[in-house]
Amino acid sequence: MKTALFPGSFDPFTLGHLDVLHSALKLFDKVVVAVGYNSTKGGFFDPEIRVEIIKKATEGMKNVEVCSYTGLTVDFCKEKGANCIIRGLRTTTDFELESVIAQANREMNPDILCIFIPAGHEYSFISSTVVRDVLINGGDAKCFLPKNVDIEHYLKMRD
Ligand code: ADP
Repeated sequence: MKTALFPGSFDPFTLGHLDVLHSALKLFDKVVVAVGYNSTKGGFFDPEIRVEIIKKATEGMKNVEVCSYTGLTVDFCKEKGANCIIRGLRTTTDFELESVIAQANREMNPDILCIFIPAGHEYSFISSTVVRDVLINGGDAKCFLPKNVDIEHYLKMRD
């Protein structure tokens, strides 16, 4: 079975992330969406809430697993039996950052391949940062988020 890991902060998971996931599922038998977090670095949503949001966003989708992890992505790939890492690309800036991370990962584990999936043009401007800014300022971020995610519900769960 061909399994890929789609790691990210996903704070929160957006329509752009969902689009990358749909593309990845065309290439792999299973995709593990993994919320990577650093226990000393807080986020907008707690990792558990981010996982809940992704589970809701991917409800009914086959061959998707959602979880969180800390530590090295290449180590988590091994744990999940994944030999590919999926990353999405919006801009040349994304490419520059991502290629450095991909090279470092390759040094650490040459058996794990990184695959870049370009953003769909209608989603290429969407980022979790923009969504957080909209939410912090009381705006409506629905147009950036998967349809069945009721973000107000998760906002109430923040401390
Ligand atoms: P990270 O902090 O690990 O970059 P993000 O949640 O911001 O986590 O992004 C996870 C992955 O999704 C990254 O590869 C990022 O480039 C990609 N991504 C984010 N937004 C989009 C989008 N709108 N379209 C395509 N890919 C995206």
